[in-house]
Amino acid sequence: MTNWLDTAADLLLGATCPGCGTPGWGICTTCRAALEETSAFAVVRRLEGFPVASAARVYEGRLRRLVAAHKERHARGATSVLGALLAEAVEHRRPDGPVTLVPVPSSRSAVRQRGYDSVHLLADAAARSLSRDGRRVFVVSALTHVRRLADQASLDTAARWANLQGAMAARPLAGPVIVVDDVCTTGATLVEAHRALMAVGVIDCQAATISATVLRRDQGTQRSAGPATAGPADP
Ligand SMILES: [Zn+2]
Repeated sequence: MTNWLDTAADLLLGATCPGCGTPGWGICTTCRAALEETSAFAVVRRLEGFPVASAARVYEGRLRRLVAAHKERHARGATSVLGALLAEAVEHRRPDGPVTLVPVPSSRSAVRQRGYDSVHLLADAAARSLSRDGRRVFVVSALTHVRRLADQASLDTAARWANLQGAMAARPLAGPVIVVDDVCTTGATLVEAHRALMAVGVIDCQAATISATVLRRDQGTQRSAGPATAGPADP
């Protein structure tokens, strides 16, 4: 559901589709149709500590533009569409029962600059989508940064890892937890979030993202069409 804040933000953004640039308000019918086909998949990263994870779509093309526009350019009209995709990834991991969604934290400076927390908005939208189907879903901001982070976008892979290691703290949570984020690329953020939650005694911690890059070395195994059965990544 698009609320008035989302609509107002879209008016500020301008009259083009944030997915493809076609003139018009909000996400165009072509982009909506392209995102409708269900294709959630298990995300594999051969990293120690990478949680069992699923993504709704591959991070490419119009979805990549939509995620970026939502995060960087106030495309709040995309919140419900992207939230529904995140819900799909959550269901791929955990198809029924109550669940707690824990958004990956945004840096304070990013929230201050943008005026909103993109991932938290998406977690709320996913929770609304899942609740409409009768699920009991909670969104809990249980993760915080314990120190100031450099902007990940400006760093190479090695520096991203160093930037994130030990960067998060969590508060204890009961019940199954799913860490949620907009995109999984290297997997460093999910590893750190998972570590922080396990450190405070969370037993069942998985992850779901709207999108994920497909690594060439994993292409044979990553796009699993069946239920989410993939175990933790290889060491
Ligand atoms: Zn479009």
